[in-house]
Amino acid sequence: AQYDEGLAKSRSSFGARLNRFLARFRSVDDAFFDDLEETLIEADVGFETAMQITDQLRDEVKLRNVKKKDEVAKAIVAKMVDLYGEAGEGEDNALHFSTDKTPTVFLFVGVNGAGKTTTIGKLAHRFQEQGKQVILAAGDTFRAGATEQLVEWGKRVHVPVVTGPKESDPAAVVYDAVHHAKEQQADIVLVDTAGRLQNKVNLMNELAKIKRVITRELPEAPQEVLLVLDATTGQNALNQAKEFAKTTKVTGIVLTKLDGSAKGGIVLAIRNELHLPVKLVGLGEKMNDLADFDPNKFVYGLFK
Ligand code: GDP
Repeated sequence: AQYDEGLAKSRSSFGARLNRFLARFRSVDDAFFDDLEETLIEADVGFETAMQITDQLRDEVKLRNVKKKDEVAKAIVAKMVDLYGEAGEGEDNALHFSTDKTPTVFLFVGVNGAGKTTTIGKLAHRFQEQGKQVILAAGDTFRAGATEQLVEWGKRVHVPVVTGPKESDPAAVVYDAVHHAKEQQADIVLVDTAGRLQNKVNLMNELAKIKRVITRELPEAPQEVLLVLDATTGQNALNQAKEFAKTTKVTGIVLTKLDGSAKGGIVLAIRNELHLPVKLVGLGEKMNDLADFDPNKFVYGLFK
């Protein structure tokens, strides 16, 4: 239900677009497919993805000699489900945890405002509810208020937060958190990081150093490096993802603010063009507004 509500905007937009589009066309000709491609691009599925869907549909319509509007509409939905309704080859949507008794570490990266802190708070709540011992690391020592915001979440979900002085070395904070987690035999450390993409070299060095510190303490960790992207920024999110993927090895995407986005199509673009699995989706600002990404539910959800 939460998933459905969160997707309401995308759905109404996607469905409405599709209906408007179907209302317009008279025959299934070249103009029809051009129009379909444009409709998909407007829904933010991305250029390559729109082309792929349209091309495949064109072949199929020809092959099956489909002419009726509702049959074509059905074929469009079926094609989307077929292409995106299940995890693709090598697309691993699951979160990974430590395989022995040592703590798991998740590193969160992404530009300011994407929703890193909020996602960490929500996940901390989820793991806490599962009876896991969670520690948060305030690795964004740069942005004013970032540490305080994480501390606030820590209080809300009853999870300790390791912090450092303003503008101190984030790697030192992360070291403290990981060290503490080992000592306490905690289950999981969630690490917040700064998101200044403007200074790429610095950011890259900072993230590399943080990773080194983690791996030195826990050779298996970090189990996840999650790139947090704001769905409402549409194609911008896609470009950010490309930039981040260049600087650090990302293991998965958290797509936030799907509740506020009319452009859920961005999920398809990310999966198709970046070959990075979407692992979690943010569906609101509250602690329960986080869901595992389910490709099947997602695609059906767009059309329901
Ligand atoms: P950070 O700078 O990456 O740590 O971003 P924040 O976690 O501070 O989030 C920025 C803003 O986005 C805050 O006002 C959050 O409440 C809001 N936000 C984060 N995730 C979601 C989401 O899934 N849905 C909605 N509607 N708002 C969100």
